Amino acid sequence: MANEANPFESLQEQIDDASAYIDADDGVLERLKNPERVLETNLTIERDDGSLETLRAFRSQFNGDRGPYKGGIRYHPGVTRDEVKALSGWMVYKCAVVDIPYGGGKGGIEIDPEQYSEDELERITRAFATELRPIIGEDRDVPAPDVNTGQREMNWIKDTYETLENTTAPGVITGKAIDSGGSEGRVEATGRSVMITAREVFDYLGEQIEGTSVAVQGYGNAGSVAAKLLEDLGANVVAVSDSSGGIYNPRGFDARDVKAFKTETGSVSGHDEAVEEISNEDLLTLDVDLLIPAALENAIDAEIAEEVQADVVVEAANGPLTPGADDVLTGSNTWVVPDILANAGGVTVSYFEWVQNRQRFSWTEERVNDELEAVICDAFDGLIDAYEEHDAPNLRTAAYVVAIERVLDAFEQGGTWP
Ligand code: NAD
Repeated sequence: MANEANPFESLQEQIDDASAYIDADDGVLERLKNPERVLETNLTIERDDGSLETLRAFRSQFNGDRGPYKGGIRYHPGVTRDEVKALSGWMVYKCAVVDIPYGGGKGGIEIDPEQYSEDELERITRAFATELRPIIGEDRDVPAPDVNTGQREMNWIKDTYETLENTTAPGVITGKAIDSGGSEGRVEATGRSVMITAREVFDYLGEQIEGTSVAVQGYGNAGSVAAKLLEDLGANVVAVSDSSGGIYNPRGFDARDVKAFKTETGSVSGHDEAVEEISNEDLLTLDVDLLIPAALENAIDAEIAEEVQADVVVEAANGPLTPGADDVLTGSNTWVVPDILANAGGVTVSYFEWVQNRQRFSWTEERVNDELEAVICDAFDGLIDAYEEHDAPNLRTAAYVVAIERVLDAFEQGGTWP
């Protein structure tokens, strides 16, 4: 990634920026900037060749004032304690901005999953689930997928937890396969909220999403679904990338076809409709209407931000802009829809999954998508109200003001004890 900004410091800076608009004690603001607790653990697992290996893993429970801790588990070589802390904090404010009754948490294992067989990944996941067991639970902390984890890992975690607890508790984790208690619409939920917020911000600006040109950095779950759904609205996906590079075609790609090609070959590079193979930095600075960073944190630093030509940036990834990049884009009047709203579809449908699990009742995909649409549109309207009311410098600060006020209300209503 372009810049090594510490994501935890970025989170704290975002909260500081918003706190100027909030009437709260410094002592309470400090609480909002730091996790309640972090589990750091070392998982010793057996490789297929019989050797033993120890992997570092974390779970951060940032804030539980509004409900159980909630947030994904990431498998990536770049996972650090500070990254997990930052991601867990963003979850708090994400759940608050869409007003679902959760706190925030996040977990990760420092691992490159491509170097491990499926059997090894199962042993690693079950070892992590065993360490997590005392601190997770349907009413305590509810993990979910994140980068490089998906239904398979969620099913293993649920099974490990239920076996050790000798119970049935599908709501201990979300993002499961449908037959293991997953929800219709969960796989596409993050990309769907990216599409909805992009559509809404263009509408707010008095423009139509139809006919806009779109560049997507990171063609995984979040990015590829967003691209497909935006294409369904008539947008033109002209550039996409993944960790191996990017492709460009000013006439636009067929988003579904590019996804099928990536699934088949492992990358978007080499797609036959590409007019040009481009670097990730080229993609970020293309002259497009809408830029969607959908890979990892710190994709855009201040230097790259100076070159960004898009009118609107919708953050599908968590933390893709450094604080310096944020300042540059605010200064150049680029509209940035912040991650804590734009990608909140994932946690919102995770919440719906948890509700269905607890009711032992399944919703149709149509109902899930309708309820998601309502939650994201309400949150977007609330964000615009806060932006206008506070005359906030950008949508991110307005989103944090909304979210922090909700967390503070819950904290103050509960009171300090002992
Ligand atoms: P994913 O693993 O499905 O996809 C990530 C994609 O990014 C891959 O295509 C990978 O090749 C690409 N990538 C990695 N490094 C890159 C680089 N340097 N340049 C360009 N592309 C690069 O992961 P995902 O679930 O789509 O998550 C992506 C982002 O969205 C993360 O920040 C994640 O936290 C966030 N997010 C995901 C969800 C979800 O439900 N999946 C929910 C909320 C937020």
